[in-house]
Amino acid sequence: MRKALMRRIESKRDEAVALTVDLVRIPTVNPPGDAYTACAEFVGERLRRSGYGVEYVRAEGVRGDSARYPRTNVIGRLAGASSGPCVHFNSHIDVVEAGSGWSFDPFAGVVQDGKVYGRGTCDMKGGLAASMIAIEAIVEEDIRFPGALEISGTVDEESGGYGGVGYLATKGYFSRPRVDHVIIPEPLNVDRVCIGHRGVWWGEVETRGRIAHGSMPFLGDSAINHMVAFLHKVETELLPRLHERTTAQPVEPQEARRSTLNINGIHGGQPEGDGYPAPTVAHSCRTMLDRRFLVEEPIEEVKAEIVVMLDDLKRTRKGFDYVIRDVMEFLPTFTPLDAPVVKAVADEIRRVLGREPAFIASPGTYDQKHIARIGHLHDCIAYGPGILDLAHQPDEYVGIGVMVASAQVMALAALRLLGMELR
Ligand SMILES: [Zn+2]
Repeated sequence: MRKALMRRIESKRDEAVALTVDLVRIPTVNPPGDAYTACAEFVGERLRRSGYGVEYVRAEGVRGDSARYPRTNVIGRLAGASSGPCVHFNSHIDVVEAGSGWSFDPFAGVVQDGKVYGRGTCDMKGGLAASMIAIEAIVEEDIRFPGALEISGTVDEESGGYGGVGYLATKGYFSRPRVDHVIIPEPLNVDRVCIGHRGVWWGEVETRGRIAHGSMPFLGDSAINHMVAFLHKVETELLPRLHERTTAQPVEPQEARRSTLNINGIHGGQPEGDGYPAPTVAHSCRTMLDRRFLVEEPIEEVKAEIVVMLDDLKRTRKGFDYVIRDVMEFLPTFTPLDAPVVKAVADEIRRVLGREPAFIASPGTYDQKHIARIGHLHDCIAYGPGILDLAHQPDEYVGIGVMVASAQVMALAALRLLGMELR
């Protein structure tokens, strides 16, 4: 049965390619969230043809949702022959903008040299196609499995997932007893199991000053100068400290096993509009700190060490005043290495690919955060065929061979999680 299923998936190679091409041709660019409904319905129709019960759930009222850009998600459920657990494959259908530097039309789905090129092939329509093909093969082989298999196509992952997995999780779609195991076919490479991700905190710091004429700065108090003093402290005191902190989690790339901070933006003084900013002393300057933290760091301390530096300046620097705002935070999430979904996928990587799987964690977050935090479901990993480094790049592609191989791993791992180990 195992061999027959493997062969069946192999024989669906062209179908996997065609499906990926079809998905790429629906340009689900986010922002603003184009063509979500068209893509969700395309996926839903195909699932229905395989016997799934299909639901569409629009995240009404969530940021970004509108009549023009509805946040339409699709969930398909394929019931087994008897009761049992449920394995869910979740893929986001949104893609980031194409950007420049492409050698192909990013939304044509060009097939060349064993690869499918196009925006979203790697991240992650190739992964979605692989999971759909995997389960279609199970159906075509007439394998009677217990429990249920689910596939969802969800939106807005690239902008935080609030209208997609985040929304569905609040409605119980990612909790027991409905679902037991989740595999997210994000592009993490065909032989790697991604167990989770670091934490993220976005904090906006605003320094305050007093406006005056630019020709007489001594009459005002520059918020930009105060920001410079703060950022100097960040660079000379905080960054070296963060660099010393390392995690025991297998985050890739290796540099991300240290704590990091990026300054995502800085805005001070008058708006530039069409020309130059007006000649005034800045009364406000804002910066967005993007702090990525380790599971070993409590979030309270992550925030507190910034506040300590700001308070320090308030004490020692004349006129220094600030406001700090929480913009976004997600705690680190890691699935234990001995969790069922980790073991099932790792074992099938060994058997299908004949190689030892690598266990990794992601430097940035993805939808697993919502499944863990809102759904309270911790048997979740990311596993998919795309190459991580190609995500969001020009000439993004997914290899056809790895797409088929990952579908074999997915099908066999899913059946194993349902209690059927195929010989
Ligand atoms: Zn992705």
